[in-house]
Amino acid sequence: MIKQKRIIQTLIDLVKIDSPSGEEKLISQEVAKRLKKLGGKVKFDSYSNIICKFPGNGDPILLNCHLDTVEPGRNILPQIKGDRIVSDGTTILGADPKAGISIILEAITSVKEDRGVLVPLEVVFSREEESSLGGAINLDYSSIKAKHGIVFDGDAEVHNIFVSSPGYRRMDFTVTGRSAHAGVEPEKGISAIEIATKIISSLKLGRIDEETTANIGLIEGGSARNAVPEKATMKGELRSRDQSKLLKMVGEVQQIVGEVKSLYPEAIIDLDLTEEFQGFKLKPDHKTIQLASEILSSMSLKPVLVDSGGGSDANIFHQKGIEVIVVGTGVWELHTTREYVVIPQMVEAARFCEKIIRADID
Ligand SMILES: [Zn+2]
Repeated sequence: MIKQKRIIQTLIDLVKIDSPSGEEKLISQEVAKRLKKLGGKVKFDSYSNIICKFPGNGDPILLNCHLDTVEPGRNILPQIKGDRIVSDGTTILGADPKAGISIILEAITSVKEDRGVLVPLEVVFSREEESSLGGAINLDYSSIKAKHGIVFDGDAEVHNIFVSSPGYRRMDFTVTGRSAHAGVEPEKGISAIEIATKIISSLKLGRIDEETTANIGLIEGGSARNAVPEKATMKGELRSRDQSKLLKMVGEVQQIVGEVKSLYPEAIIDLDLTEEFQGFKLKPDHKTIQLASEILSSMSLKPVLVDSGGGSDANIFHQKGIEVIVVGTGVWELHTTREYVVIPQMVEAARFCEKIIRADID
C-alpha cells in the first residue's frame, strides 16, 4: 500500500541532499542505495546516470525522473505546512525532481511489500536535466529495452499528461562592426549595436502562433560611451511543436540576417541556430496515453492531455525511440523559492505509478 507518511519522509530526506546540476554524486548514491534495497539491479552508465532494472512480466516500461535541481538549492530546509511541503523561503524546495523520485520509489516499495508482480521496469534517474539535458543525451541507450515509458516530472497533478513538447533551436547572433572614436571620427566606425537593433526590429518575437514562440533574452554590446561599438551579441531561442514551422522560422531568421548584412557589407554577422533538441507529439490513441488514461479513470481522475511549452529529458527519449509521456507530480511554482508540493497530489501520483508498474492487477 502507498503510505503517505513514508513518501513524505522520503521526499524530506532527499531534498536535504544538495544536488545542483553537475553535483549529483551524493543524491545518486542515496537513490542507488534505496533501489538496491528494493531488489533492483543498479548500474551507473559512463555519464553516471542511474539505470536500474527490476524483472517482471510483460512489456518493459521506462520510468524516469532527473536527479538535479536548480539554484538556489543548497541547504534546503523543508517544512510541512498543512497539506503542503515548502522550503524555508530562501531556497527552492527541490520537489522538482525529488517528488518524482519519491513517487517512483514509493510505488516500487509498495508493490514489493504487497508481494505483487511487477512489469519489467527500467528505472532511469538522469543527471543534468536542468542545465543541459546532458544526462539523457549521454545515457547508455544500448542497455534500455523499453520502447515506452513515463516521466514523473510535471508541474501539475498526475492526471495532467504532457503529450507534446516543442523542438528547440538556439538563436544567437554575434555582430562585429568596427570601433572608432564616437566624437572624433564616427564615420570610420560601424556600430554593431545599430546592426543588432536592425536585426531585432525585423524579427518576429513572442508568441508566433499557438505552438510557436521566439525570444531574444540577452543583449550585450559596446565597450564605452564614447566609442562606436565593435561587438554586440544577442542570445535567444526558437520553439515550435511543429517541426515545419520551426524550419520556416529558421529560414526567415537567416533571410533577415542576409538582408541586414547587405546594408552593412563590411560587418560580420554570425548566426547560430543550432538545434538543441527535437519536439515530439503523441497521438491521443498512443498506447501509453491509453494505459495512463485507463488507470486514471479507474482512480476516478479525468485525464487531461496537455501540450507543453518546455523541453525536458522526454524530448531526448523520443529522439532515441522511447515514446514517453510526462505526468504531474503535485509540484507547483517550481524553480522559485515559493516551490511547494501538495501532499495528497504526490500520494495520488504514487498510487498511479503503482498501478502502472503492477502486472498482477487490472
Ligand atoms: Zn524537473
